[in-house]
Formats: sequence, C-alpha cells, structure tokens
Amino acid sequence: MLSSPSGGGKTTIYRAILERHPEYKYSVSATTRPRRGEEQNGIDYFFLSDEEFLEKIDSGEFVEWAFVHGYRYGTLKSTVKKALSEGDVLLFDLDVQGADAMKKTFPDEVVNIFILPPSREELRKRLTARKTDQPDVINLRLRNAEGEVKKAINYDYIVINDDLNTAINQVDSIVTAELCRPQMQLPILGWGLK
Ligand code: ADP
Ligand code: 5GP
Repeated sequence: MLSSPSGGGKTTIYRAILERHPEYKYSVSATTRPRRGEEQNGIDYFFLSDEEFLEKIDSGEFVEWAFVHGYRYGTLKSTVKKALSEGDVLLFDLDVQGADAMKKTFPDEVVNIFILPPSREELRKRLTARKTDQPDVINLRLRNAEGEVKKAINYDYIVINDDLNTAINQVDSIVTAELCRPQMQLPILGWGLK
C-alpha cells in the first residue's frame, strides 16, 4: 500500500514497480474526481458520478472509501477478493485514511509504505511541474499534506522520494522482503515445493 501527499510520487513509483514485476497487479480505485490528462477509465480509476458512487456505497461494494481533496475515492471489494483468491501482489495507491482502514481489515496481508517527498518546496515544484492541477487545487493539496505527513509514523515503512531510482529500489526491496515473511510462505511450509 503506497501513500503520500499528492505529488509525492506514488503513481511514478508504482508504475515503475509494475514494469519490473508484470506479475504484480494494481488496485484500480473508483473516484468521483474528474479525469485529468491522459487518465483512462478502468486503468487509472473507475471514474464515477456522485450518484453511481453512492449506489456502490449503499450496496456495500467498497472495502473502504474516503473523501480526499473534496472528492470520493474507494477500493472495491471485488478487486481485493480476486487478488486474495489468486494470491496476487496487489499495489494500492491510497490516502492515509484508506491505508489505515485496509491495515485494520487485513492486518496480516497489508504492508503500508509512506512515500515522503524531500521537502515542502520540492513537493510544490513537482505538483506545479506535473501541470495537471490548477494553483488553487495545488494549494489545497499542499495544505492537506501537512496532516498526511504527520500520519507517516503509523506506517510500516517510510521511503524518501528524493532520487527516484533509489526510492523505486527501496519499495521493490520492501515488497520482496515482505513476501519472504513466514505468513506469506505458508503454502511451502508443508515442504510440498514441487
Ligand atoms: P502522486 O501519484 O503521489 O500524486 P506523481 O507520481 O504524479 O505523484 O508525481 C508527481 C510529479 O513529480 C510527477 O510529475 C513526477 O514525474 C514527478 N516526480 C516523482 N518522483 C520524482 C523524483 N524523485 N524527482 C523528480 N520528480 C519526481
Ligand atoms: P489523485 O486525485 O491525485 O489521483 O489522488 C488523490 C488521493 O486519493 C491520493 O492520496 C490517493 O492516494 C488517494 N486515493 C486514491 N484512490 C483511493 C482509494 O481507493 N481510497 C482512498 N482512501 N484513497 C484513495
């Protein structure tokens, strides 16, 4: 599970990890936020209207959902169920509320990694350079970053995204190490290796 302030580098990092590990999956969230840039429905997000999102809340289709920067975002139960049943590594890009909720629901399976930008100034630069958000949206996201960073202490890991390659390598190493934990290796502990 990757979290960070907006612009911290989650999307860049999870895309790099998926390129290295095509067998990993990405949990596509639903959102009421308007599509930006090159984003594609069903690949980056399931883009829903408010009505559609509310219907899914009512019919219990979300494992978790939250208001983030003024819009609704949520993880679908169907996505998580499929990954659990197929034993997939599922990468999530969730805000601090979503990461907390997922850890409570799946304490043995979820690993929370907080991606920390090197400074406030660098975060503003990256959000501005990304050119996907208006200045008022960037300011809101920077204000929200203050509270989000305070939650980093509750995560399993903090990765500082200064040099991008170092950050990608660190996330990659964390996932690899976590997959070696005994509880993740249960099927082989009977030694039926072949
Ligand atoms: P998030 O998904 O957390 O909102 P992004 O992955 O979209 O963040 O990154 C925000 C912007 O910062 C993007 O334009 C990205 O290319 C850039 N970026 C990410 N990591 C780095 C880095 N280590 N150094 C410089 N720019 C970066
Ligand atoms: P963005 O609009 O930049 O794509 O995402 C805004 C924020 O929403 C990010 O912090 C991202 O991690 C979070 N987010 C994306 N999908 C979900 C989700 O399904 N649940 C929760 N709780 N947060 C999400």
